[in-house]
Amino acid sequence: MHEVSIALGMVDELTRIARENNAEKITLVKLKIGKLSGIVVDSLKFAFDAIKLEHPIMTTAEIIINEIPLIYKCNDCNTEFEADDLYFPECTGCKSYNLAIISGEEQHIENVELDV
Ligand SMILES: [Zn+2]
Repeated sequence: MHEVSIALGMVDELTRIARENNAEKITLVKLKIGKLSGIVVDSLKFAFDAIKLEHPIMTTAEIIINEIPLIYKCNDCNTEFEADDLYFPECTGCKSYNLAIISGEEQHIENVELDV
């Protein structure tokens, strides 16, 4: 499962952040996951909840996953719009296909709360 390796990578990063801050515990972790990242949020949450139990520093950490919508911006008329599907849609303003993705590809840690 793709989400397990992502969760493992994030746990490594969280452990490093906690160590750098001399924290005893991680209490809260907020993740930003874009719709286009290909990550299934429920699977990531499940993987995280399982992996955190093996790390005393974060066994009680609450995991909040913020799903970021897929937003395109039209290069022709500058309209920004949210798209539900992953296929290239047309601009809602001028029907152009000349679009840029401005959000939806995120997969990173947004915020960590530590108990020092
Ligand atoms: Zn347009």
